Amino acid sequence: MTVKLFNTMSRKLEEFHPITPGHVGFYSCGPTVYHYAHIGNLRTMIHNDILKRMLAENGYAVHHVMNITDVGHLTNDDDDSGQDKMEKGAARDNKSVWDIAKFYKDEFLRDYDDLNIIRPTDMPHATDYIAEQIDLVRKLEELGYTYEIPGDGIYYDTSKFPTYGALSGGSMSGNRAGARVEFNDAKRNPTDFALWKFSPTDQKRQMEWPSPWGVGFPGWHAECSAMGMKLLGNHFDIHTGGEDLSRIHHANEIAQSEPIVGAPWVKYWVHFSFLVDKSGDKMSKSKGEFLGLDALRRRGYDPMAYRYLILLGHYQTQLAFSWESLDAAATGYKNLVRRVADVLRDATDDVDTAAIDAWHDKILATVSDNMKTAEALVLIQEMLRDTTMSSATKAQILTFVDRLLGLNLMARATTIITNEMTPIPDDILALGNARAAAKASRDFATADNIRAQIDAAGYTILDTRDGFKITKKAE
Ligand code: AMP
Ligand code: ZN
Repeated sequence: MTVKLFNTMSRKLEEFHPITPGHVGFYSCGPTVYHYAHIGNLRTMIHNDILKRMLAENGYAVHHVMNITDVGHLTNDDDDSGQDKMEKGAARDNKSVWDIAKFYKDEFLRDYDDLNIIRPTDMPHATDYIAEQIDLVRKLEELGYTYEIPGDGIYYDTSKFPTYGALSGGSMSGNRAGARVEFNDAKRNPTDFALWKFSPTDQKRQMEWPSPWGVGFPGWHAECSAMGMKLLGNHFDIHTGGEDLSRIHHANEIAQSEPIVGAPWVKYWVHFSFLVDKSGDKMSKSKGEFLGLDALRRRGYDPMAYRYLILLGHYQTQLAFSWESLDAAATGYKNLVRRVADVLRDATDDVDTAAIDAWHDKILATVSDNMKTAEALVLIQEMLRDTTMSSATKAQILTFVDRLLGLNLMARATTIITNEMTPIPDDILALGNARAAAKASRDFATADNIRAQIDAAGYTILDTRDGFKITKKAE
């Protein structure tokens, strides 16, 4: 099936053809583990997951690498100045840098799993690839791309790389970076960036390593070039990240890599649009206030409702988060699971393989066409409404849908069916009867009170035409 992706480099929708037939080398920029991931970061991770699942369903063997940034990412990304985000996070939490790296990585992976995102093939930590990063800087030095700023670090001279900034629409070399960036006067060009930073002489850093240039730590961009080359080879197919990364981080990755491996280093660059707030501001960790998946869990939302919300949008469009939109997505997801449960309950009839193939192809073609997940969800509703197909046929299509979109529909629906079949204990039934009696005598306060007791015991009571119905709540 034809796979199409929007390539930021060409600014065009392109047909995907891997470098090695049947295989995809896929690198995505991962989290900086100095704080909890916010739901914006997780939006990017969900899009990565859909891309990967879609490629797998098209028969590709996908090698997915996602880095864990645990060093070198400074508070001012644009200028390699400010504090190391990891050291800052450690001071805030009163823990060592190594401890917070482990803590926030584990928290990140808990969110990852709860959102049913398939784990990467490799998850390299920047601190485990220091030798490779030093080697990268050494090669660039030999090729004449570097210079030293005494007391500061080894810098990349972007004027030596004529196509610098091509990813964001043309050469930025020699231009002053955004006005908000404080210009480091010792740099030859505003867009030059640190490859290796020296440790301050008056203080010991928690993370530092010896190097041919002195004790210090790698610049943030070095890790993705060094680990990408090491784990995926000198050239690979797809590199992704949030939309913020194309202007600086990915421009710098390209500038570091192509002098060593030749152009193009990466064939397709895919960038995901931001999750923003109501006023259009990017959700960001450095602002201090942000929503993590835990905030959603604490308010009683199923993480899958968040995944569903993301799939209702398109990766090239910013998504303004609101509780109202999450509510709507949660209801939509619940209704979908309900319909799937109805299908599964009846799925004992014959299977129509031609119909399975037709719907499989229609849904996969839609997601393969630049990841149109919202359109795929419309097709799925259409398929569920189709009265010409047996339930067993629909159940088989839904198995494929779950593999492709990772919405856990079958598992959630099975839980509903199991709960409905579980006998309701006598004491809960007695509460139901007591509530019916209270309602009959118009004692609504007592009726509400009993409903709360039933709810607290893990059951839901619904009024029906013939009285009431109690079901066990899904987990
Ligand atoms: P970080 O942990 O900040 O290094 O970011 C991890 C990933 O999340 C990167 O690919 C970022 O581009 C992406 N990201 C950061 N903020 C947002 C946002 N508000 N919406 C979507 N993706 C984001
Ligand atoms: Zn990166």
